[in-house]
Amino acid sequence: MSATLHLLRPDLRDFTAYHAASPRRGVVRLHANESSWRSDWDATDDGLNRYPDPQPEALIHALAGLYGVAPGTVLVTRGSDDAIDLLVRAFCVAGEDAVLVCPPTFGMYAVAARLQGAGVVEVPLGQNFSLAVDDVLAAARRGVKLVFLCSPNNPTGSLVPARAVDNICRALHGHAVVVVDEAYVEFSRQPGFADRLERHGNLVLLRTLSKAWGLAGARVGALLAEPELVAILRALAPPYPLPSLATEAALRRLQPRELAAARRRTAAVVRRREALAEQLRALPAVRRVWPSEGNFLLARFADAAATMAACEAAGVLVRDFSRQPGLAGCLRITVGTAAENRQLQRALARLDGKKVRARG
Ligand SMILES: *Cc1c(COP(=O)(O)O)cnc(C)c1O
Repeated sequence: MSATLHLLRPDLRDFTAYHAASPRRGVVRLHANESSWRSDWDATDDGLNRYPDPQPEALIHALAGLYGVAPGTVLVTRGSDDAIDLLVRAFCVAGEDAVLVCPPTFGMYAVAARLQGAGVVEVPLGQNFSLAVDDVLAAARRGVKLVFLCSPNNPTGSLVPARAVDNICRALHGHAVVVVDEAYVEFSRQPGFADRLERHGNLVLLRTLSKAWGLAGARVGALLAEPELVAILRALAPPYPLPSLATEAALRRLQPRELAAARRRTAAVVRRREALAEQLRALPAVRRVWPSEGNFLLARFADAAATMAACEAAGVLVRDFSRQPGLAGCLRITVGTAAENRQLQRALARLDGKKVRARG
Protein backbone atom coordinates (compact mmCIF):
# COMPACT_ATOMS: atom_id res chain seq x y z
CA MET A 1 0.00 0.00 0.00
CA SER A 2 1.34 3.46 -0.88
CA ALA A 3 2.16 6.02 1.79
CA THR A 4 -0.96 7.96 0.76
CA LEU A 5 -3.34 4.99 0.96
CA HIS A 6 -2.06 4.44 4.52
CA LEU A 7 -3.70 7.74 5.43
CA LEU A 8 -7.22 6.47 4.62
CA ARG A 9 -9.56 5.83 7.53
CA PRO A 10 -8.46 2.43 8.91
CA ASP A 11 -12.08 1.22 9.08
CA LEU A 12 -12.47 1.79 5.34
CA ARG A 13 -9.43 -0.23 4.23
CA ASP A 14 -11.44 -3.37 3.48
CA PHE A 15 -14.63 -1.51 2.53
CA THR A 16 -17.01 -3.39 0.24
CA ALA A 17 -18.54 -1.05 -2.31
CA TYR A 18 -22.21 -1.17 -3.21
CA HIS A 19 -22.53 -3.36 -6.27
CA ALA A 20 -23.85 -0.99 -8.94
CA ALA A 21 -25.84 -2.45 -11.82
CA SER A 22 -23.82 -3.18 -14.95
CA PRO A 23 -24.11 -0.28 -17.40
CA ARG A 24 -23.96 -2.60 -20.45
CA ARG A 25 -26.32 -1.66 -23.27
CA GLY A 26 -27.52 -3.69 -26.25
CA VAL A 27 -28.52 -6.60 -24.00
CA VAL A 28 -31.78 -7.52 -22.28
CA ARG A 29 -31.47 -5.65 -18.97
CA LEU A 30 -33.40 -7.62 -16.39
CA HIS A 31 -30.82 -7.18 -13.61
CA ALA A 32 -31.56 -3.74 -12.16
CA ASN A 33 -35.34 -3.55 -11.59
CA GLU A 34 -35.52 -0.64 -14.03
CA SER A 35 -38.58 0.18 -16.04
CA SER A 36 -38.42 -1.13 -19.61
CA TRP A 37 -40.27 1.91 -20.94
CA ARG A 38 -38.93 5.36 -21.72
CA SER A 39 -41.16 8.45 -21.96
CA ASP A 40 -41.93 9.86 -25.43
CA TRP A 41 -40.27 13.17 -24.51
CA ASP A 42 -37.08 11.42 -23.37
CA ALA A 43 -34.50 12.39 -26.00
CA THR A 44 -31.45 11.07 -24.13
CA ASP A 45 -29.17 8.51 -25.81
CA ASP A 46 -29.51 5.89 -23.08
CA GLY A 47 -33.04 6.51 -21.84
CA LEU A 48 -33.75 7.95 -18.42
CA ASN A 49 -35.49 4.72 -17.44
CA ARG A 50 -32.01 3.13 -17.21
CA TYR A 51 -29.44 3.54 -14.45
CA PRO A 52 -26.44 5.55 -15.65
CA ASP A 53 -22.87 4.28 -15.90
CA PRO A 54 -21.23 5.00 -12.48
CA GLN A 55 -18.04 6.27 -14.19
CA PRO A 56 -18.91 6.85 -17.87
CA GLU A 57 -15.90 5.88 -19.95
CA ALA A 58 -16.50 8.40 -22.73
CA LEU A 59 -16.67 11.24 -20.21
CA ILE A 60 -13.58 10.05 -18.34
CA HIS A 61 -11.63 9.94 -21.61
CA ALA A 62 -12.85 13.37 -22.65
CA LEU A 63 -11.88 14.86 -19.27
CA ALA A 64 -8.50 13.10 -19.30
CA GLY A 65 -7.87 14.63 -22.72
CA LEU A 66 -8.95 18.08 -21.55
CA TYR A 67 -6.70 17.95 -18.49
CA GLY A 68 -3.77 16.18 -20.16
CA VAL A 69 -3.71 13.21 -17.76
CA ALA A 70 -4.17 9.44 -18.01
CA PRO A 71 -7.80 8.20 -17.75
CA GLY A 72 -6.89 6.09 -14.67
CA THR A 73 -6.17 9.27 -12.71
CA VAL A 74 -9.70 10.69 -13.24
CA LEU A 75 -12.71 10.21 -10.97
CA VAL A 76 -15.86 12.01 -12.10
CA THR A 77 -17.88 13.54 -9.29
CA ARG A 78 -21.15 15.44 -8.85
CA GLY A 79 -19.33 18.77 -8.94
CA SER A 80 -16.18 19.50 -6.92
CA ASP A 81 -18.35 19.87 -3.84
CA ASP A 82 -18.94 16.13 -3.92
CA ALA A 83 -15.22 15.44 -4.34
CA ILE A 84 -14.43 17.57 -1.28
CA ASP A 85 -17.01 15.68 0.77
CA LEU A 86 -15.72 12.32 -0.46
CA LEU A 87 -12.12 13.16 0.43
CA VAL A 88 -13.02 14.29 3.94
CA ARG A 89 -15.10 11.19 4.58
CA ALA A 90 -12.40 8.88 3.19
CA PHE A 91 -9.48 10.32 5.16
CA CYS A 92 -10.80 11.85 8.39
CA VAL A 93 -11.82 9.82 11.42
CA ALA A 94 -14.58 11.77 13.21
CA GLY A 95 -13.40 13.28 16.48
CA GLU A 96 -9.72 12.56 15.71
CA ASP A 97 -8.50 13.92 12.39
CA ALA A 98 -8.58 17.41 10.92
CA VAL A 99 -8.34 19.30 7.65
CA LEU A 100 -6.19 22.39 7.17
CA VAL A 101 -7.56 25.44 5.35
CA CYS A 102 -6.03 28.84 4.57
CA PRO A 103 -8.72 31.52 4.98
CA PRO A 104 -10.06 33.58 3.42
CA THR A 105 -10.94 30.70 1.10
CA PHE A 106 -13.77 28.57 -0.27
CA GLY A 107 -16.21 27.65 2.50
CA MET A 108 -16.98 24.07 1.47
CA TYR A 109 -13.76 22.60 2.91
CA ALA A 110 -14.72 23.56 6.46
CA VAL A 111 -18.40 22.68 5.90
CA ALA A 112 -17.50 19.16 4.73
CA ALA A 113 -15.12 18.73 7.69
CA ARG A 114 -17.79 19.76 10.21
CA LEU A 115 -20.33 17.41 8.62
CA GLN A 116 -17.85 14.57 9.11
CA GLY A 117 -17.00 15.57 12.68
CA ALA A 118 -13.41 16.39 11.67
CA GLY A 119 -11.45 19.34 13.04
CA VAL A 120 -10.62 22.45 11.03
CA VAL A 121 -7.12 23.92 11.46
CA GLU A 122 -6.86 27.44 10.06
CA VAL A 123 -3.64 28.96 8.75
CA PRO A 124 -4.65 32.40 7.44
CA LEU A 125 -3.15 33.74 4.24
CA GLY A 126 -0.40 36.31 4.81
CA GLN A 127 0.54 39.61 3.20
CA ASN A 128 -1.29 40.15 -0.13
CA PHE A 129 -3.06 36.82 0.42
CA SER A 130 0.13 34.83 -0.08
CA LEU A 131 0.29 31.30 1.35
CA ALA A 132 2.19 31.03 4.65
CA VAL A 133 4.07 27.85 3.67
CA ASP A 134 6.11 27.45 6.88
CA ASP A 135 3.01 27.95 9.03
CA VAL A 136 1.11 25.37 6.93
CA LEU A 137 3.90 22.83 7.40
CA ALA A 138 4.14 23.50 11.15
CA ALA A 139 0.36 23.23 11.64
CA ALA A 140 -0.06 20.15 9.44
CA ARG A 141 2.17 17.91 11.52
CA ARG A 142 -0.40 16.61 13.99
CA GLY A 143 -3.76 15.11 13.13
CA VAL A 144 -4.18 16.91 9.80
CA LYS A 145 -5.07 14.45 7.03
CA LEU A 146 -6.00 16.88 4.27
CA VAL A 147 -4.46 20.23 3.36
CA PHE A 148 -6.83 22.24 1.15
CA LEU A 149 -5.17 24.78 -1.13
CA CYS A 150 -7.15 26.76 -3.67
CA SER A 151 -5.41 28.20 -6.73
CA PRO A 152 -6.62 30.62 -8.00
CA ASN A 153 -8.14 31.16 -4.58
CA ASN A 154 -11.80 32.03 -4.07
CA PRO A 155 -12.46 34.85 -3.04
CA THR A 156 -9.02 36.51 -3.25
CA GLY A 157 -8.05 35.57 -6.82
CA SER A 158 -4.49 34.81 -5.68
CA LEU A 159 -2.32 31.88 -6.81
CA VAL A 160 -0.37 29.25 -4.92
CA PRO A 161 3.13 29.18 -6.46
CA ALA A 162 4.30 25.87 -7.93
CA ARG A 163 7.29 25.92 -5.58
CA ALA A 164 4.97 26.02 -2.56
CA VAL A 165 2.92 23.06 -3.83
CA ASP A 166 6.11 21.05 -4.41
CA ASN A 167 7.50 21.89 -0.97
CA ILE A 168 4.28 21.10 0.86
CA CYS A 169 3.72 17.82 -1.00
CA ARG A 170 7.29 16.68 -0.32
CA ALA A 171 7.28 17.71 3.33
CA LEU A 172 3.91 16.07 4.05
CA HIS A 173 4.44 12.87 2.06
CA GLY A 174 3.15 10.03 4.24
CA HIS A 175 1.57 12.54 6.66
CA ALA A 176 -1.19 14.30 4.75
CA VAL A 177 -2.87 14.57 1.35
CA VAL A 178 -2.50 17.92 -0.41
CA VAL A 179 -5.64 18.91 -2.29
CA VAL A 180 -5.34 21.75 -4.80
CA ASP A 181 -8.73 23.08 -5.91
CA GLU A 182 -8.29 24.38 -9.47
CA ALA A 183 -11.88 25.47 -10.13
CA TYR A 184 -10.68 28.73 -11.77
CA VAL A 185 -7.40 27.62 -13.34
CA GLU A 186 -8.72 28.18 -16.88
CA PHE A 187 -8.82 31.94 -16.17
CA SER A 188 -5.25 31.99 -14.86
CA ARG A 189 -1.80 32.46 -16.38
CA GLN A 190 -0.67 29.49 -14.30
CA PRO A 191 -1.34 26.19 -16.10
CA GLY A 192 -2.23 24.24 -12.93
CA PHE A 193 -0.49 21.23 -11.41
CA ALA A 194 -1.63 18.22 -13.46
CA ASP A 195 1.98 17.70 -14.58
CA ARG A 196 2.94 17.11 -10.92
CA LEU A 197 0.58 14.21 -10.22
CA GLU A 198 3.25 11.64 -11.10
CA ARG A 199 5.85 13.37 -8.96
CA HIS A 200 3.72 13.58 -5.80
CA GLY A 201 1.67 10.54 -4.71
CA ASN A 202 -0.07 12.67 -2.07
CA LEU A 203 -1.31 15.33 -4.50
CA VAL A 204 -5.01 15.49 -5.42
CA LEU A 205 -6.41 18.04 -7.89
CA LEU A 206 -10.02 19.19 -8.17
CA ARG A 207 -11.36 20.41 -11.51
CA THR A 208 -14.89 21.38 -12.51
CA LEU A 209 -17.01 22.12 -15.56
CA SER A 210 -18.96 24.67 -13.47
CA LYS A 211 -16.93 27.80 -14.22
CA ALA A 212 -14.99 28.24 -17.50
CA TRP A 213 -16.98 25.49 -19.25
CA GLY A 214 -20.35 26.96 -18.29
CA LEU A 215 -22.04 23.87 -16.82
CA ALA A 216 -22.70 24.80 -13.19
CA GLY A 217 -26.24 23.46 -13.52
CA ALA A 218 -25.07 20.04 -14.71
CA ARG A 219 -22.89 19.38 -11.61
CA VAL A 220 -19.87 17.76 -13.24
CA GLY A 221 -16.50 17.77 -11.50
CA ALA A 222 -13.36 15.66 -11.59
CA LEU A 223 -10.87 14.54 -9.00
CA LEU A 224 -7.37 13.81 -10.33
CA ALA A 225 -5.02 11.61 -8.30
CA GLU A 226 -2.79 8.55 -8.48
CA PRO A 227 -4.75 5.59 -9.96
CA GLU A 228 -4.69 3.49 -6.76
CA LEU A 229 -6.34 6.27 -4.79
CA VAL A 230 -8.85 6.92 -7.59
CA ALA A 231 -9.85 3.23 -7.52
CA ILE A 232 -10.49 3.34 -3.76
CA LEU A 233 -12.40 6.64 -3.86
CA ARG A 234 -14.49 5.24 -6.67
CA ALA A 235 -15.60 2.42 -4.34
CA LEU A 236 -16.49 4.95 -1.61
CA ALA A 237 -18.38 7.35 -3.90
CA PRO A 238 -22.15 7.19 -4.37
CA PRO A 239 -23.08 4.36 -6.76
CA TYR A 240 -24.37 6.61 -9.58
CA PRO A 241 -22.83 10.05 -9.03
CA LEU A 242 -23.78 11.58 -12.40
CA PRO A 243 -27.31 11.62 -13.83
CA SER A 244 -27.24 10.57 -17.50
CA LEU A 245 -28.54 14.04 -18.46
CA ALA A 246 -25.45 15.61 -16.88
CA THR A 247 -23.08 13.19 -18.62
CA GLU A 248 -24.67 13.83 -22.00
CA ALA A 249 -24.53 17.60 -21.49
CA ALA A 250 -20.85 17.36 -20.51
CA LEU A 251 -19.98 15.20 -23.53
CA ARG A 252 -21.66 17.69 -25.82
CA ARG A 253 -19.80 20.54 -24.15
CA LEU A 254 -16.45 18.76 -24.57
CA GLN A 255 -16.69 18.48 -28.38
CA PRO A 256 -13.85 20.35 -30.14
CA ARG A 257 -16.01 23.18 -31.55
CA GLU A 258 -17.71 23.81 -28.22
CA LEU A 259 -14.36 23.76 -26.44
CA ALA A 260 -12.94 26.30 -28.85
CA ALA A 261 -15.93 28.61 -28.30
CA ALA A 262 -15.64 28.28 -24.52
CA ARG A 263 -11.90 29.07 -24.70
CA ARG A 264 -12.65 32.26 -26.65
CA ARG A 265 -15.23 33.25 -24.02
CA THR A 266 -12.73 32.56 -21.24
CA ALA A 267 -10.15 34.79 -22.93
CA ALA A 268 -12.80 37.52 -23.26
CA VAL A 269 -13.66 37.22 -19.55
CA VAL A 270 -9.97 37.64 -18.69
CA ARG A 271 -9.78 40.82 -20.82
CA ARG A 272 -12.97 42.20 -19.28
CA ARG A 273 -11.69 41.33 -15.80
CA GLU A 274 -8.67 43.57 -16.33
CA ALA A 275 -10.80 46.37 -17.80
CA LEU A 276 -13.34 46.14 -14.96
CA ALA A 277 -10.55 46.21 -12.36
CA GLU A 278 -9.24 49.46 -13.87
CA GLN A 279 -12.71 50.99 -13.96
CA LEU A 280 -13.41 50.02 -10.36
CA ARG A 281 -10.09 51.47 -9.22
CA ALA A 282 -11.11 54.81 -10.68
CA LEU A 283 -14.28 55.04 -8.54
CA PRO A 284 -14.14 57.14 -5.34
CA ALA A 285 -16.21 54.51 -3.46
CA VAL A 286 -13.56 51.85 -4.13
CA ARG A 287 -10.62 51.57 -1.73
CA ARG A 288 -8.80 48.65 -3.33
CA VAL A 289 -9.13 46.06 -6.07
CA TRP A 290 -6.85 43.05 -5.80
CA PRO A 291 -5.29 41.47 -8.88
CA SER A 292 -7.23 38.32 -9.78
CA GLU A 293 -6.51 35.14 -11.71
CA GLY A 294 -10.16 34.00 -11.59
CA ASN A 295 -13.40 35.13 -13.28
CA PHE A 296 -14.10 37.51 -10.39
CA LEU A 297 -12.62 40.48 -8.57
CA LEU A 298 -12.30 41.12 -4.85
CA ALA A 299 -12.72 44.80 -4.06
CA ARG A 300 -12.77 46.80 -0.85
CA PHE A 301 -15.37 49.57 -0.70
CA ALA A 302 -15.59 52.59 1.59
CA ASP A 303 -19.04 51.35 2.62
CA ALA A 304 -19.78 47.71 1.78
CA ALA A 305 -23.36 47.80 3.10
CA ALA A 306 -24.26 50.86 1.00
CA THR A 307 -22.65 49.23 -2.03
CA MET A 308 -24.61 46.01 -1.51
CA ALA A 309 -27.81 48.07 -1.22
CA ALA A 310 -27.04 50.06 -4.40
CA CYS A 311 -26.36 46.86 -6.35
CA GLU A 312 -29.48 45.22 -4.98
CA ALA A 313 -31.58 48.25 -5.97
CA ALA A 314 -30.16 48.04 -9.50
CA GLY A 315 -30.99 44.34 -9.75
CA VAL A 316 -27.35 43.23 -9.58
CA LEU A 317 -26.22 40.53 -7.13
CA VAL A 318 -22.67 40.60 -5.79
CA ARG A 319 -21.25 38.60 -2.88
CA ASP A 320 -20.67 40.17 0.53
CA PHE A 321 -17.45 39.06 2.26
CA SER A 322 -17.22 42.07 4.56
CA ARG A 323 -17.85 40.08 7.74
CA GLN A 324 -15.02 37.60 7.12
CA PRO A 325 -11.74 38.04 9.01
CA GLY A 326 -9.37 40.26 7.03
CA LEU A 327 -12.02 41.19 4.46
CA ALA A 328 -13.72 44.23 6.07
CA GLY A 329 -15.48 46.26 3.38
CA CYS A 330 -14.89 43.57 0.73
CA LEU A 331 -17.27 42.34 -1.96
CA ARG A 332 -16.63 39.71 -4.61
CA ILE A 333 -17.84 40.56 -8.09
CA THR A 334 -18.09 38.04 -10.91
CA VAL A 335 -16.97 39.33 -14.31
CA GLY A 336 -20.07 39.31 -16.53
CA THR A 337 -20.84 40.22 -20.11
CA ALA A 338 -20.02 43.75 -21.22
CA ALA A 339 -23.69 44.71 -20.70
CA GLU A 340 -23.81 43.13 -17.23
CA ASN A 341 -20.62 44.91 -16.21
CA ARG A 342 -22.07 48.24 -17.42
CA GLN A 343 -25.17 47.68 -15.28
CA LEU A 344 -22.92 47.09 -12.27
CA GLN A 345 -20.94 50.24 -13.03
CA ARG A 346 -24.10 52.33 -13.33
CA ALA A 347 -25.16 51.10 -9.88
CA LEU A 348 -21.73 51.98 -8.44
CA ALA A 349 -21.69 55.38 -10.17
CA ARG A 350 -25.00 56.28 -8.51
CA LEU A 351 -23.45 55.32 -5.19
CA ASP A 352 -20.59 57.76 -5.75
CA GLY A 353 -23.03 60.51 -6.71
CA LYS A 354 -25.01 60.00 -3.53
CA LYS A 355 -21.88 60.08 -1.38
CA VAL A 356 -20.71 63.30 -2.95
CA ARG A 357 -24.11 64.93 -2.41
CA ALA A 358 -24.25 63.68 1.18
CA ARG A 359 -20.84 65.17 1.88
CA GLY A 360 -21.53 68.45 0.04
C1 LIG B 1 -17.15 27.26 -7.72
C2 LIG B 1 -16.10 26.52 -7.01
C3 LIG B 1 -16.00 25.14 -7.12
C4 LIG B 1 -16.91 24.38 -8.03
O1 LIG B 1 -17.79 23.61 -7.35
P1 LIG B 1 -18.76 22.65 -8.18
O2 LIG B 1 -19.30 21.80 -7.10
O3 LIG B 1 -17.90 21.87 -9.15
O4 LIG B 1 -19.76 23.49 -8.88
C5 LIG B 1 -14.98 24.48 -6.47
N1 LIG B 1 -14.10 25.16 -5.75
C6 LIG B 1 -14.13 26.49 -5.64
C7 LIG B 1 -13.07 27.19 -4.89
C8 LIG B 1 -15.14 27.20 -6.24
O5 LIG B 1 -15.20 28.54 -6.09
